[in-house]
Amino acid sequence: MNGKILEKSWLPQKAEKDDKKSSELKTGRKEYFVLAGILLLALVCWEGLFWKYANPGGQVVVSRNGEQIGSYSLKKDQKLLFTNQKGGRNILVIQDGQVSMKMADCPDGLCVKHKPISAIGESIICLPHRLVAEVTDAIDHP
Ligand SMILES: [Zn+2]
Repeated sequence: MNGKILEKSWLPQKAEKDDKKSSELKTGRKEYFVLAGILLLALVCWEGLFWKYANPGGQVVVSRNGEQIGSYSLKKDQKLLFTNQKGGRNILVIQDGQVSMKMADCPDGLCVKHKPISAIGESIICLPHRLVAEVTDAIDHP
């Protein structure tokens, strides 16, 4: 609100003709901001894409209840079955450097609907089974 008052005081206080001019100027400024916003958004999206492709993960770390239960290389295509204490199952598939939840018998099935992950920091979480698969860098765990 303060900015608006300040802006008005900066404008030349003359006739109505000038008022019209200044309002045109204002519109132009608004458009500039919108354009700048779009550009910024595009840049952020592009950076995101760049980050995604520049940082492909090396492995997927699987944990249950916050405890790591395994890590698997993304370079090797494989199918992994995880069964929890209650018999709940999740089948994780690694193919072409991407990880996806192929099957799960959890009640919500959200993990199966999750898109495949491949970049560092991306994860698929199965809340009902408290299972987390997260892509990390290529450092191999002992
Ligand atoms: Zn699930």
